[in-house]
Amino acid sequence: MSEHAPLLKTENVVVEYGSRRKPNRVLHEVSLDVGAGECVGLVGESGSGKSTLGKAILGLVPVAGGRIEFDGRDITHLKGRARRELASEIQVVFQDPYGSLNPMMTVGEILSEPLSTAGTGRTEARRIVSEMLERVNLPGNVLDRYPSEFSGGQRQRIAIARALVRRPRLIICDEPVSALDLTTQATVLDLLIELQRDTGVSYLFVSHDLGVVRRICHRVAVMYRGDLVEIGDGEQVTRDPQHPYSRRLLAASPVADPARQAERRAEWLELREAHVTA
Ligand code: ADP
Ligand code: MG
Repeated sequence: MSEHAPLLKTENVVVEYGSRRKPNRVLHEVSLDVGAGECVGLVGESGSGKSTLGKAILGLVPVAGGRIEFDGRDITHLKGRARRELASEIQVVFQDPYGSLNPMMTVGEILSEPLSTAGTGRTEARRIVSEMLERVNLPGNVLDRYPSEFSGGQRQRIAIARALVRRPRLIICDEPVSALDLTTQATVLDLLIELQRDTGVSYLFVSHDLGVVRRICHRVAVMYRGDLVEIGDGEQVTRDPQHPYSRRLLAASPVADPARQAERRAEWLELREAHVTA
């Protein structure tokens, strides 16, 4: 049982691609909860259906069966205006820090767009945007610059700031650090952890990297070919998984070796230290 009240609940969610006549079922009755202020990891090899679950929650793919609830409300088939309004509660950060930001827009425009869409006044929008830049450790002078002028890590900070401006209660993080080098991964993960502590936002954190998930998640769910095969405490699932598939995933992960694991942990601590004192 989660100690947090569920904010998000998926119940037997089914998603099929392909045509109605020849459906390809990629999610088989997936049931998962995310509590307020909780980070739930979703791991599994490429093609297992992790992103599809995120898209189903965001309303980007149709749900063929089951139910998705947010804060007690059925959002499974929400469309149009009601779906757009949900953007103030559920946001997303994608893997690709190059493709996910409009190259034609300045950082200032990227960050204020969700606010103008929501009808926020310009003065208030400017105030929120500078607050969010500060939160993600970017200087105020980035506002007139374009995404192409930034590194991958900085772009993810911009993407995170954009996800935060409407003060959502849930952020779907779909492999948000997978495209970054190890050092940058560490600082972006630390940032996500800090933001969660400060704001109480929940994360559904999709990753194929058990080391990353162990670092940030309270609970971890393991997906295998569209089924959740294991869900439990993050530390336990990433160290001593019970399901044979989870064990294989752990064995295949670059942190399977205990010595390497200890090393990786030390690395993290060192990086954290450097980050804090810098
Ligand atoms: P993951 O994020 O775990 O790598 P995905 O959710 O992206 O997995 O994909 C799950 C399965 O659905 C894969 O077999 C993939 O090929 C298939 N798939 C994903 N998106 C589409 C799509 N738009 N149309 C058809 N099949 C898709
Ligand atoms: Mg994916």
